[in-house]
Amino acid sequence: MALTLYNTLGREFQAFESLGPGKVGFYGCGPTVYNYAHIGNLRAYVLHDILVKTLTRRGYEVTYVMNITDVGHLSGDNDSGEDKMVKSAEERGKGVLEIADFYTQAFFNDTGRLNIERPTVVCKATDHIDAMISLIKRIEDRGFTYFSGGNLYFDVSRFPSYGDLALLRSEELRAGARTGLDENKRNPQDFVLWFTKSKFENQALVWDSPWGHGYPGWHIECSAMSMKYLGEQFDIHAGGIDHIPIHHTNEIAQSEAATGKHPWVRYWLHNEFLVIDKGKMSKSAGGFLTLQSLVDSGYDPLDYRYFLLSGHYRSQLQFSFEALDGARNARKSLIDRVKALAEKTGPILAFEEKNLQMGGKAEACKTSGYLETFDAALDEDLSTPKALAGLWALLRDTEAPPKKALEAAFTMDRVLGLALAKEAERVWNRKEDPDFIREITALIENRREAKKNKDFGKADGIREALKKRGIILEDGPTGTLWRRE
Ligand code: AMP
Ligand code: ZN
Repeated sequence: MALTLYNTLGREFQAFESLGPGKVGFYGCGPTVYNYAHIGNLRAYVLHDILVKTLTRRGYEVTYVMNITDVGHLSGDNDSGEDKMVKSAEERGKGVLEIADFYTQAFFNDTGRLNIERPTVVCKATDHIDAMISLIKRIEDRGFTYFSGGNLYFDVSRFPSYGDLALLRSEELRAGARTGLDENKRNPQDFVLWFTKSKFENQALVWDSPWGHGYPGWHIECSAMSMKYLGEQFDIHAGGIDHIPIHHTNEIAQSEAATGKHPWVRYWLHNEFLVIDKGKMSKSAGGFLTLQSLVDSGYDPLDYRYFLLSGHYRSQLQFSFEALDGARNARKSLIDRVKALAEKTGPILAFEEKNLQMGGKAEACKTSGYLETFDAALDEDLSTPKALAGLWALLRDTEAPPKKALEAAFTMDRVLGLALAKEAERVWNRKEDPDFIREITALIENRREAKKNKDFGKADGIREALKKRGIILEDGPTGTLWRRE
């Protein structure tokens, strides 16, 4: 079976086909860094991670681009309200960029703890003002803009397919008109590409542009940065469902207006909300839960990851501490089973990276049936609840040879991201001195960094130095494992 994704554009399941052979360009809307991410936001990034890892397992080379919004995002997505970054900086008595740096780090700290892999490219809006200005010029040259009240607007009436993504009908368009009416707009859905007349005298960050001193609207950053890194047409774009009617609708309009190419993006994926007591968890409403608050209450971040995976990304997920307790217990049972297998096998030999892809050698074994079920689950529009059930079925099978079962579990976990190999490693390294384990772990981390920076000499040096001490490193499915010779 092929990977099937539910495409918001057209509202149907479609077999995934990449634009270029073996390569996928994916853009996921990143955080607005004026506050901590709440656990609802993190749902969006766990989906991105599952998507990337599912595609990687299917042999694609994925370029995953994520923006960091540090300018231009007003509290209303339709240009109404206050500037989120400026407001946060003022409240905290700090500079805007200082606030942005602080919450960007906090964001990656959270995603790291959730085993979400770093995107291939992370791009800050304030570093890409030139790309935004160039794109706006193209839109202007093609006649899609007007200047009014000091701001440059996109004229949606010039773009006939406006609203196709959101299936916007005229009554919804009128409903949109009621919120935050801006009298400079010719149509309520027109949106700002460049502000020069800020509503706020305290606008901290401004740049020169052909339209005057000012700053970009929020939507243009995603069009400019995605096209810079992925080309004028690319495969997949994702975000929360709140982005369908305004942000993504506007992104499509301005991108296709600029290039004249359709479709700009082939597949649109949107995650449903995490809700609490039937209400959407939101940053601006305040009173939200962060990952750290869960940790402070005694949960492991991966309990929360497990909780998220237990729901399908297109269904609303109701958060409660009872449900999180359930996830914690389930994860604990999972770990117990992995540890029991690890006791039986001793350290297992790693298998080569290419074998982790579907059809690889490691799968020609008794457990391949479970892997097939697992992959079929992800093929069904990334059904993580079914994929988790596949992992459970494997680990419940007392007949499965332990080594094969563990290898298959680690292979599945390469997508699920529950750090099962680390748990097995705890068993294998139990008798070691904790300080020694810490030292080896730090060296493994240095080697990983060196490899990431393509400093293979240094990486090999670390491996060799450890070998001299009788420690063998094995690059396995969920990272590097070590064992004594
Ligand atoms: P923001 O940092 O506000 O731009 O949002 C980051 C991402 O989180 C976006 O993709 C939003 O659509 C998504 N998001 C916001 N609130 C929720 C929620 N309660 N549940 C799931 N996703 C959300
Ligand atoms: Zn975006």
